[in-house]
Amino acid sequence: MNTQEQVGAEARYQAALNEGRFLIQRCEGCGRHVFYPRVVCPHCGGDSLAWVEPKGTGVVYSTTTVRRKPEAGGDYDVSLIDLDEGVRMMSRVEGIAPTEVKIGMRVRAKVIDNKGAGLVVFTPEEAR
Ligand SMILES: [Zn+2]
Repeated sequence: MNTQEQVGAEARYQAALNEGRFLIQRCEGCGRHVFYPRVVCPHCGGDSLAWVEPKGTGVVYSTTTVRRKPEAGGDYDVSLIDLDEGVRMMSRVEGIAPTEVKIGMRVRAKVIDNKGAGLVVFTPEEAR
């Protein structure tokens, strides 16, 4: 793996997000899903990673409320989410108070516009 290729994988991921599409990778060698975007599969070392659309559903693995002054936007959530595809990603859960986010909660991904760049956030599944 070289740095140029790694940058390419991350750029491709972000480019899809900027178009409102959430894509992760799936290894064509071992069939496992891969996230964060990589050049080489961390499971089997294969270098044939295809871009696929995840179901977008997952579960909160851990959650933290980050305290912030109201004038700076107020408290917000930082969570690790386990997608049903078996990959873990850092994101946040929106639509409920940060302190209401619970470990084990079912959540669903959506892509939002974050100052012109696509960003994956999650909302509670039962609230939809
Ligand atoms: Zn693999």
